[in-house]
Amino acid sequence: MKSKVITRFPPSPTGYMHIGRARTALFNYIYSRQHEGEMIFRLEDTDSERSKPEYEQDIIDGLKWLGIGWDNTDLIRQSERTQIYQRYLKQLVEAGKAYVSAETNEETGKTNEVVRFKNPNSVIKFTDLIRGEIEFDTTELGDFIIARNIEEPLYHLTVVVDDHEMGITHVIRGEDGISNTPRQILIQEAIGAARPIYAHLPLILAADRSKLSGRHGAVSVREFQQQGYLPEAIINYLALLGWNPGTEQEIFTLSNLIEQFSLEKVQKSGAIFDLEKLKWINREHLGRKTYPELKAIITSFIPEDIKSLPQYTEARLEKAWPILMERLSALHELTELANTGQLQYYFDQPKYDSSLLKTTEHLPEVINLIEQLDDNDFNAENVKNAIWNFATEKGRGEVLWPMRVALSGQEKSPDPFTLAALFGKAETLARLKQAVS
Ligand code: GLU
Repeated sequence: MKSKVITRFPPSPTGYMHIGRARTALFNYIYSRQHEGEMIFRLEDTDSERSKPEYEQDIIDGLKWLGIGWDNTDLIRQSERTQIYQRYLKQLVEAGKAYVSAETNEETGKTNEVVRFKNPNSVIKFTDLIRGEIEFDTTELGDFIIARNIEEPLYHLTVVVDDHEMGITHVIRGEDGISNTPRQILIQEAIGAARPIYAHLPLILAADRSKLSGRHGAVSVREFQQQGYLPEAIINYLALLGWNPGTEQEIFTLSNLIEQFSLEKVQKSGAIFDLEKLKWINREHLGRKTYPELKAIITSFIPEDIKSLPQYTEARLEKAWPILMERLSALHELTELANTGQLQYYFDQPKYDSSLLKTTEHLPEVINLIEQLDDNDFNAENVKNAIWNFATEKGRGEVLWPMRVALSGQEKSPDPFTLAALFGKAETLARLKQAVS
């Protein structure tokens, strides 16, 4: 019988939850779900100086927001497991597989005791699910340090002990973990731990092919959340950072991914982070949601001064949403629309310089035609039908431009029929009459 798949997401809380970490968490999560296994989440906070509670919280919040769950009920922190590591450390020293070494720091002249691993200088071969066979002569690693002293274990030891104690079967992590693997395998062999299966994910690169970092713009999950990206879109995009389904499909939900994702199909070469693609994916996910599903988040991006406009109602916002959505890739752009004066007119008579109208000659007839329309049947198509012949006769620009400006007050806006339908008959007439007054 094959053993149950147990993956892990073991971030060090020395930084925020960024895109790279989130992808690692996602791939571990998906893989565990595909195999009816488990994913362990543990915080590798042995570096007490660099580990911070706010980073820990940010990572937890990020996982929750993305909907990436884990299976350990208690939070695991390496800082609370020191005794376990000490036990292994003592065993290694007693077995002659590690030794305490008094070493003098050349710069400070101080002598410290460190614990070094007695390197058997073997050649380590392992199969990486993504990168294939990897062979490494460990001689060049020397007797590397595994603990600051007999009480204070360091990273390589703690990872190996935890993976062993927690029954981890698959280590799926970033490419930067490859160079750690030979050391960790040596320690595994020394403590008699089974070797997990490895998969090292390609680096995430910026468009200029340098390693993605904060200087390339938003990279933390929280920033994307604050910008009004949907967690579904981030999940979808993360999955495509290194994985290609081999079909035309680009939109995936988490459950689609659990069905279709394949770790073996992840590429070796770096994955380029493409913000335009993410925006496109976000739009697609926005479009797949109903207004009620999005209502709370949409409203959270509408500034207060817009909410206090005379025609601002939930009903108007709901009606405007499909029109607004076409102009957005992420919800924070609603705030941008407001800041550039492109949201006010949805909820208030527009203010504009009358020269923008160019001509008002035909507006009285537009008003007349609209007045004849039935209030109960006032949709874009009926408005269009009512105006179209007249506009064609007089020149569409001459009729439709001032009509549109009268409704929006903007150089650019949705077409006048769409706007008229949104505002309703009375408000449309009021705006048109304002333009000719
Ligand atoms: N704690 C490490 C990090 O945050 C990950 C260790 C591992 O995946 O083996 O980079």
